[in-house]
Amino acid sequence: MSFAALGLAPDLVRAVAEHGYTTPTPIQTQAIPLVLAGKDVLAGAQTGTGKTAGFTLPMLQRLHGGPRRKLRALVLTPTRELAAQVEESVRTYGKHLPLRSAVVFGGVGINPQIEKLRQGADILVATPGRLLDLAGQKAVDLSSIEILVLDEADRMLDMGFIHDLRRILALLPKRRQNLLFSATYSDDIKKLAEQFLHNPEYVEVARRNTAAETVQQQVYAVDQKRKRELLSYLIGSNDWRQVLVFTRTKHGANRLAEQLGKDGLTSAAIHGNKSQGARTRALADFKSGAVRVLVATDIAARGIDIDQLPHVVNFELPNVPEDYVHRIGRTGRAGAEGHAISLVCADERDYLKSIERLIRRTLSQTQLPGFEPGTASNAPAEDEERRRAPRPRSGNAPRRHDGTRDGAGAGRRPDGNRGRSGQPRAANGNARGPAKSGEVNGNRAPQAPRGRARRNP
Ligand code: AMP
Repeated sequence: MSFAALGLAPDLVRAVAEHGYTTPTPIQTQAIPLVLAGKDVLAGAQTGTGKTAGFTLPMLQRLHGGPRRKLRALVLTPTRELAAQVEESVRTYGKHLPLRSAVVFGGVGINPQIEKLRQGADILVATPGRLLDLAGQKAVDLSSIEILVLDEADRMLDMGFIHDLRRILALLPKRRQNLLFSATYSDDIKKLAEQFLHNPEYVEVARRNTAAETVQQQVYAVDQKRKRELLSYLIGSNDWRQVLVFTRTKHGANRLAEQLGKDGLTSAAIHGNKSQGARTRALADFKSGAVRVLVATDIAARGIDIDQLPHVVNFELPNVPEDYVHRIGRTGRAGAEGHAISLVCADERDYLKSIERLIRRTLSQTQLPGFEPGTASNAPAEDEERRRAPRPRSGNAPRRHDGTRDGAGAGRRPDGNRGRSGQPRAANGNARGPAKSGEVNGNRAPQAPRGRARRNP
């Protein structure tokens, strides 16, 4: 099945292809023809299924060719992050069409939004509260809306937006097309659907992104400045062979890939500043195993589709919680076992809480002995810091080994010792891996990575 076969216009098909998508997802295959036919749709689909393109593409097509610069489509979302993301999709998929979009949400100044609306837009993406503020100030005219989309309607109800929704519905023309997307079918959603959908078509997709439930997720509490060292240790000591690592910034991705290379781990970075050629090459090397660690930003990773990717690491937590779900959805696909770890420093606690709220579960947290927050590294680059830092407690914690010359290398435990076999031993003395994280181990015994750059420059 192709996008063109779903009835989408060439300009939309082209935009989708340029974005790197070749095949529609199941929700797109089901929803796009229905929306194009002007039906009301009740869709059971959660984040990660491709639902955004599922309503954005046909919506753009239906608006194309009609009157311009009048608000004709309204997309309501529960959060500002989702609003921004949806509007970005509208711009991406609509880039070859002359339609204009605007996005409004609370928490930022209202005046630039009023100005933007004054310039005229065809599509408005909004969170309910700010939209009502704008309507109250007569800064937005909703009387010509033809298509209404409620995205993540269940979350909107969870967040208490039902009254706002009713007030917004009252401002819209009676005759319009309505699309409701929701991850769950609670009684409240059914009631909402009955109230405002007309003879809806139902579509539902199997949850592609059940990652939040099926992927093994582990949080390591660690200081920011020791994350790289811990990462190298985890990869090396567990002998992870294919690891996708997420950073928040392009610069951070570059730097991390470079540092991991120095630890003897073949690494490449992909992000928006890299040419398409460089990205394709890095991805091919990663898939073939020539590159062991791929460091990516969220945007760059969107096009990555690797079956059975075993390990995903959040080097930094995303500030948009939905991105966490996207990230970990890269592992554990198609029933394969997936494993996602997050290295979380004190500054990221709030991000962690938002993520746990979104996925509705508390992630298990651990501290790797020798890498506990507040303990110092014995990596050579941080010699000075180490001298000033307190020494770790004895017991299970690894002894510090001040004589080491390259203590931070991949697979090297924090004390710099490699154990009798010459293999790195886990910090808990268990040759299979670090304390409290038996689930992160593969079946093979940990091995030192090949080609340690520090020793063999
Ligand atoms: P969504 O469920 O809309 O949040 O989308 C989930 C992810 O899938 C996003 O990163 C989209 O960019 C991506 N995506 C959407 N449609 C497709 C497609 N047809 N092929 C590959 N990826 C897609």
